[in-house]
Amino acid sequence: MERIYIGMGSNLADPAEQLRSAIAALGQLQHTRFVGVSAFYQSDSLLPGQPRYTNAVAALDTALAPLALLDALQAIENDQGRERLERWGPRTLDLDILLFGDRLIDEPRLKVPHYQMQERAFVLYPLAELAPQDLRLADGRSLVELLAACPFVGLDRISQS
Ligand code: ATP
Ligand code: MG
Ligand code: MG
Repeated sequence: MERIYIGMGSNLADPAEQLRSAIAALGQLQHTRFVGVSAFYQSDSLLPGQPRYTNAVAALDTALAPLALLDALQAIENDQGRERLERWGPRTLDLDILLFGDRLIDEPRLKVPHYQMQERAFVLYPLAELAPQDLRLADGRSLVELLAACPFVGLDRISQS
């Protein structure tokens, strides 16, 4: 089993409820054990003119291969009505693989660590609730240094229920 972290986001159709449904679906994944989830956060959209996002990070242990996990996550996104109309458009559910054990993955469909996690407070702060204090990414960067370079701006920590 390898420890993985999934970044979740929604800004349509009752975002907190979307995240709760996603958490339930992650708990049903085959060959996978649910470890925990961060608090929910609200964040400003990266693109102007969209509703605010609700975000969280989940930790799981999985025996799935990375692309099998990606397929399963995309199936959950689709089940929850994800429509891919435009890049970074509003969405009912986004599930991104942030970290997959200590693997560096560079495939056409999958880049891990997630290529923009260092710039995203809505990823780093919830991740820090779950990850070990001394977490290092597969490329050597420490979570502590990423947090220090990414201010807690535009983000509100909200309750989970
Ligand atoms: P961003 O990647 O900037 O957060 P996004 O999450 O909105 O944008 P999506 O439309 O969800 O992008 O996914 C586009 C493609 O990204 C997916 O089809 C998938 O193959 C690819 N992808 C690459 N790396 C990852 C990853 N680490 N997790 C999830 N998808 C990934
Ligand atoms: Mg994303
Ligand atoms: Mg995505």
